[in-house]
Amino acid sequence: MRILVTGGAGFIGSHLCDRLLGDGHEVIAMDNLSTGNVRNISHLAGHERFHFIKHDVTHYIYVPGPVDAVLHLASLPSPVDYLNQPIQTLKVGALGTHKTLGLALAKGARYLLASTSEVYGDPLVHPQSEDYWGNVNPVGPRGVYDESKRFAEALVMAYHRHHGVDTRIVRIFNTYGPRMRADDGRVVPNFICQALRREPLTVYDDGARTRSFCYVDDMVEGMVRLLFSSQTEPLNMGNPQEMTVLEFAHKVLQVTGSPSEIKFVHPTDERTQDDPKVRCPDISRAKNRLGWSPKISLDEGLRKTAAYFEEYLERP
Ligand code: UDP
Repeated sequence: MRILVTGGAGFIGSHLCDRLLGDGHEVIAMDNLSTGNVRNISHLAGHERFHFIKHDVTHYIYVPGPVDAVLHLASLPSPVDYLNQPIQTLKVGALGTHKTLGLALAKGARYLLASTSEVYGDPLVHPQSEDYWGNVNPVGPRGVYDESKRFAEALVMAYHRHHGVDTRIVRIFNTYGPRMRADDGRVVPNFICQALRREPLTVYDDGARTRSFCYVDDMVEGMVRLLFSSQTEPLNMGNPQEMTVLEFAHKVLQVTGSPSEIKFVHPTDERTQDDPKVRCPDISRAKNRLGWSPKISLDEGLRKTAAYFEEYLERP
């Protein structure tokens, strides 16, 4: 297949490009390099089935030749990024999804939207299953991300129902691994880089909020299975092993063997406003329909991620 991956120079997007090329497909990565980085795809330069187009998906998209699938991953998924660039975040979710769906319709391509667990907001149902409609504050600081993805899901379903586009929606829960940005502000790169630099780990508030962390290879495997399935309903993907942020900090210290201390900090900016108190995916649907569940343990995934950041911090 000839596959377009938007956000192809980003964290999950670049791993997806690797996987699709490995499976024998032709891949066109598209990225405006605002938060993505050519470093993530530089090893693919010169590959005969790989192409890169530097482009902002909020503008009209032109791709010459046939396209069999469009995977829309372009997004600003880190709270720090979407709080700094709220309007661009809304545009990528709304205009970017519109443009990429229009391309899929014109080319007769299958379409996959990378959605998010943030569509559940600060959830009142726990763990979250796909039939829960969520608890999002539309006018809060996180609303720019959450609502852009909720709008994107609605637009995907409209193209599916109205135009018959063959669509997929994956709701991605916290995912981590090599090629995350060291400075993207999320808890995994923050804690690992702090541990490696022997700086205190910054646990926000009391560290009692919960998350569950999925290694990127598991996520990519799930997304590929979804793309080649016939599932048009949204599917949760993530690792259901839930822990508090404080427990996660201790796990990072244990895996890295770091002497760092844990420091409780109370951000006064918007970072923790509407921050979901709990988050854990119910992955029954992905298990039953795709036979998918995560395989890589947190210890193993964190070791691989720490090895990446160790090298990165030496040669940024
Ligand atoms: N967090 C933290 N210290 C940090 C960064 C994040 O305690 O240095 C917390 C954050 O408040 C949230 C959780 O870790 O409760 C996960 O945050 P992240 O930014 O990774 O993503 P989110 O799951 O909120 O989208």
